Amino acid sequence: MTGTRVLVLNSGSSSLKYQLLDMGDGGRLAQGLVERIGEETSRLKHTPLRAGASAASRERTGPIPDHEAALKAVADELGLDGLGLDSPELAAIGHRVVHGGQRFTEPTVIDDAVLAEIERLIPVAPLHNPANLTGIRTARALRPDLPQVAVFDTAFHTTMPEAAARYALDTAVADAHRVRRYGFHGTSHAYVSRATARLLGRAPEEVNVIVLHLGNGASASAVRGGRCVDTSMGLTPLEGLVMGTRSGDLDPAVIFHLARVGGMSIDEIDTLLNKRSGLIGLCGDNDMREIRRRVDEGDERARLAFDIYIHRLKKYIGAYYAVLGRVDAVAFTAGVGENAAPVRAAAVAGLESLGLAVDADLNAVRGDGARLISPAGARVAVAVVPTDEELEIATQTYALVRKTN
Ligand code: ADP
Repeated sequence: MTGTRVLVLNSGSSSLKYQLLDMGDGGRLAQGLVERIGEETSRLKHTPLRAGASAASRERTGPIPDHEAALKAVADELGLDGLGLDSPELAAIGHRVVHGGQRFTEPTVIDDAVLAEIERLIPVAPLHNPANLTGIRTARALRPDLPQVAVFDTAFHTTMPEAAARYALDTAVADAHRVRRYGFHGTSHAYVSRATARLLGRAPEEVNVIVLHLGNGASASAVRGGRCVDTSMGLTPLEGLVMGTRSGDLDPAVIFHLARVGGMSIDEIDTLLNKRSGLIGLCGDNDMREIRRRVDEGDERARLAFDIYIHRLKKYIGAYYAVLGRVDAVAFTAGVGENAAPVRAAAVAGLESLGLAVDADLNAVRGDGARLISPAGARVAVAVVPTDEELEIATQTYALVRKTN
């Protein structure tokens, strides 16, 4: 293997996100997004990122019928920057795959058997795995000779003990339908827990961290010595924290009630809980910037939505404190966690007796890198740690192909 570049692909049902990284120095060479694949109004936005290439983004719109056409368009754009996918510099393609079930505990070089196994997991990940598979098949068709690696969102959570991973359901029914808690956002939780240890100047094996990944989707995890011991998402990404459009935890009987008394179908309830609940259901907005703006203007609905969001978050911090016993750090990450100082302050307010506090001045500082926001000498570090799932996928992909080549 001579090349050091890795292309990271994250394919959704109608989108394809990509980044090209050079693992020689970890630098990003290009990134972009194809949206509305299969529609008349598809759009590709490509951004070269290195000096030497034109720095401005390029956009094209017009029909891109399928993922194959999308990847070819991406390859053309990269070619214009001298970064074509036929280059010997390209060492591998790393694919984000949402669901790896119990089988995939590590990044895995893709072959026909692995593809079949990802396909077998479609019943537990009907929204995500089919799109991920399409991306893999398309990339394999374009560069059949190139190693391709699947990096699973669930993998980091496969270390959860059975006591955390199982629901209290009839075991035979649960096993027959593979109903258990898998957890998601694992690539981010893995990256951020390690980056937090680095920020503390300690080895990941030595530290216990609560990671709060707060994006539009949101999840918490309890990480003991680098290994996940609990996480808030479950069979699907619906469980746990209040999210942009998802309800997170609720009494499962709400579903029976809505069906029997509300006359709603299962599909309608599915849409309600996944797309019309959480912050958007509570107050009509799912963007934390807009919610904070409304709160500052005295909007009661926005205030209540914010309070419900924080109440749930605080409950998970307390729960994972109890799960871990000793906590060295709480790390905030993703769009909300990295940017919304009021969320961070409110989430740990009143937890001083647990050793948790935020320094108002440090919390207010805007910055790109990992940083501490707890007062000097605090028993538990509170940190803002930007996540980088693409870098993590590229790093895992490159490490695996170097080992196997
Ligand atoms: P995802 O990857 O789940 O789509 P992100 O991690 O990109 O989400 O987070 C997106 C969310 O981050 C937005 O919906 C918004 O609520 C929040 N966000 C982004 N920037 C800010 C900001 N400056 N202040 C507060 N919230 C922000």
